[in-house]
Amino acid sequence: MKITVWNEFYHEKVHEDVKELYPDGMHAVIAKFLEEAGNEVRTATLDDPECGLTEEVLDDTDVLFWWGHCKHGAVPDEIVERIYTRVLDGMGLVVLHSGHASKIFRKLCGTHSGKLKWRESGDKQILWVVEQGHPITEGIDEKIILEHEETYGEHFLIPAPDELIFISWFSGGEVFRSGCVFKRGRGKIFYFQPGHETFPTYYNPEVQKVLVNAANYVCTPKKSYNYGFCESVLEEK
Ligand code: ZN
Repeated sequence: MKITVWNEFYHEKVHEDVKELYPDGMHAVIAKFLEEAGNEVRTATLDDPECGLTEEVLDDTDVLFWWGHCKHGAVPDEIVERIYTRVLDGMGLVVLHSGHASKIFRKLCGTHSGKLKWRESGDKQILWVVEQGHPITEGIDEKIILEHEETYGEHFLIPAPDELIFISWFSGGEVFRSGCVFKRGRGKIFYFQPGHETFPTYYNPEVQKVLVNAANYVCTPKKSYNYGFCESVLEEK
């Protein structure tokens, strides 16, 4: 499987605590464990030409991972459209943490904003598996415990997921739909909530297992489909 891990790669350059945790960027850590699982992995960041997501790169990508936070607006619409079309044709997409507010996730979710409640107080998080036996939870017991994470809480403004895999509890009392699958066209999207930049979440072996499983799950054979409508009716007059 060919995977591209995209990261806006901003916090790791400007915040000392994040730099210390992820000296080569979160994308490097994520790419490493995906590679160790037997995948062919490349990385791409916001500062690369065309965000590192050229037509050629996307044509050669089975699954795209996405981590973004404060630079969502800097991703050109043209690139978002490029990813959107590929997902409808079957490219898998794994959206991480604050990627809930990315242009591509919101576009794929439709009119929903992806807004949620949040609080940065290092709460303990328990991700409860609500879909036992699902390929994404293979090798995971009934829960994953993270000693510290950013709190994300309901209500999460998303359409009802096609599959709900994890629900989280935070020590402050919030609950959150932390693992959701959406199906769009031929494509599958997995949203996975933990992964705040100041916590070592992507070094956690169980989180890594979930993400390796997720890549396998959202990977489907790609095929362009002629939807048969006239493009001009969609253009603004
Ligand atoms: Zn965060």
